[in-house]
Amino acid sequence: MPDASTLPGGGGSSTRLDVAIVGGGLAGLYAIHRLRGLGFTVRAYEQGSGIGGTWFWNRYPGARCDVESLEYSYSFSEELQQEWKWPERYGTQPEILRYINHVADRFDLRRDVQLNTRIKSAVFDSRAGEWTLTTAQGETIRARHCVMAAGNLSTPRVPDFKGIGDFKGKWYHSGLWPHEGVDFSGKRVGVIGTGSSGVQMIPIIARQAKHLTVFQRTANFSLPANNMPMDAQKEIRHKAEYAARRRAAYDTPFAIGGHPKPTKPALDVADAERRAAYEAKWQEGGSISFLYAYTDLLVNKQSNDTASEFVREKIRGIVKDQRTAELLAPKDHPIGTKRLCLDTNYYETYNRDNVALVDVRSDPVAEITPTGVRLKSGVAYELDAIVFATGFDAMTGALREIDIRTTDGAVLADHWEGGPLTYLGLMVSGFPNMFVITGPGSPGVKTQMIASIEQHTDWIAECLKHMRDKGLDRVEPTAEAELAWVQHVNAVADSTLYPLANSWYVGANIPGKPRVFMPYVGGFDRYKKRCDEVAAKGYEGFTFGRQVASAAAE
Ligand code: NAP
Repeated sequence: MPDASTLPGGGGSSTRLDVAIVGGGLAGLYAIHRLRGLGFTVRAYEQGSGIGGTWFWNRYPGARCDVESLEYSYSFSEELQQEWKWPERYGTQPEILRYINHVADRFDLRRDVQLNTRIKSAVFDSRAGEWTLTTAQGETIRARHCVMAAGNLSTPRVPDFKGIGDFKGKWYHSGLWPHEGVDFSGKRVGVIGTGSSGVQMIPIIARQAKHLTVFQRTANFSLPANNMPMDAQKEIRHKAEYAARRRAAYDTPFAIGGHPKPTKPALDVADAERRAAYEAKWQEGGSISFLYAYTDLLVNKQSNDTASEFVREKIRGIVKDQRTAELLAPKDHPIGTKRLCLDTNYYETYNRDNVALVDVRSDPVAEITPTGVRLKSGVAYELDAIVFATGFDAMTGALREIDIRTTDGAVLADHWEGGPLTYLGLMVSGFPNMFVITGPGSPGVKTQMIASIEQHTDWIAECLKHMRDKGLDRVEPTAEAELAWVQHVNAVADSTLYPLANSWYVGANIPGKPRVFMPYVGGFDRYKKRCDEVAAKGYEGFTFGRQVASAAAE
């Protein structure tokens, strides 16, 4: 390793770096590339046995990205985006993982990734002005800066069901899927959870299993993906103007291009015209396209009702058993306020003889028994395998698993006790030199993630370069800037319909988690401008210091 010195020390070894990166997924890998390109010594620590983050872990049947593959890819290399060929409209998990591995090889990133390494703690020494990270194996890493690229949906959560340890069959979580795959042939399978993961795997498991029971607590809106082989002409057109298309995408709220911006509120048009517009979007496939039908679907409840009802009618039209259809038709949240699902034959699957839907809202899961699932009413389901598609401790889970503190006595878990506090989703007051990629308070999870990852990483890289140029080695946001940003994030959320849903955006899926709206929903376009302005104004809201000089003077 030419650019990081490994020193012997105690039980484990000790490494010294300019920047330690936590995570070897899409964010960590780009951070290596970008920061190494500026001459910083970097190393990423990844707990998995391979790179790829989300796309390494989520190998469940049908795992596929909901953003079209020509959009969901890195933009930093024109050659890369020209040469890579996506076989389908939406990338599958194996294809995206293949792409990530290609990028790692192409840009020689692997030499700065340490696999099978979980970071247990990160402590900022306020006197020395540097972070010490400790791995589960006892290795210590000292770094001036720390970049948290640990993911937003990377802490899988299996509900605390009684009896789970006694289940005699096999159980799985969507986000910890066995690498060798799972054969459900001839088995009675139960899937608990009907979010994006459940909706993607259910049609596939149904085709394989002897019988499938789906345990649904909340019905979700799902739209047809309308996946298809990559259209050769579309690919040629896209690649001919890739850079311009990326720029245009950055000018949109979701950082996804190719969809004309809506011009009218939904209630400004006659019923028949509106229905025709929704129908066209339904046929086209994709969630952004649908939400882009009108300007106000995420801010006006009456407008949203027209879109929600359109989808409910579709469900009633597809699902033959009307009791099942009513259970599948979401009525407790406006469409788009929970993450919209994209599917291939999801609702159709409930017309199969070997599939049953069980409502665990009215009759919750009481326990896992040795032979299946028992509900509160006592009704029991005999199962050979259970799949938990029950989601993640989103946005804060990965950082909560690391003991992050400073020698001044600040503890991140305490600072975030009432919900995450950040300035721009990029840094936390009281935790100098720690950057977070696409963290809470940023629009990341509401956008094409790779665009947000690149935007954050580029901003961080420019900030570190600025500091180096000025001889500065300590940066943190002021408490005032952080408070004002958090208030702004909340005010923007409150001006939309998002808070009406019990979603992972507000931590509602984790019992006891503070109910705070975590992502910034003002749009990628507005957010990026704000970040650029902050930098242009000399990093407004941040304070800088010369740690090394002042420590030496003491
Ligand atoms: P999720 O959206 O959080 O869904 C979890 C599901 O499990 C929900 O239906 C939830 O019900 C249910 N559940 C949780 N605890 C339960 C309990 N105790 N009893 C019964 N049901 C329970 O998780 P996910 O489907 O893994 O998706 C998470 C996010 O990952 C997505 O929103 C998306 O951002 C991303 N993702 C993307 C893709 C893609 O791009 N194609 C695919 C998969 C995931 P409640 O709704 O009632 O809580």
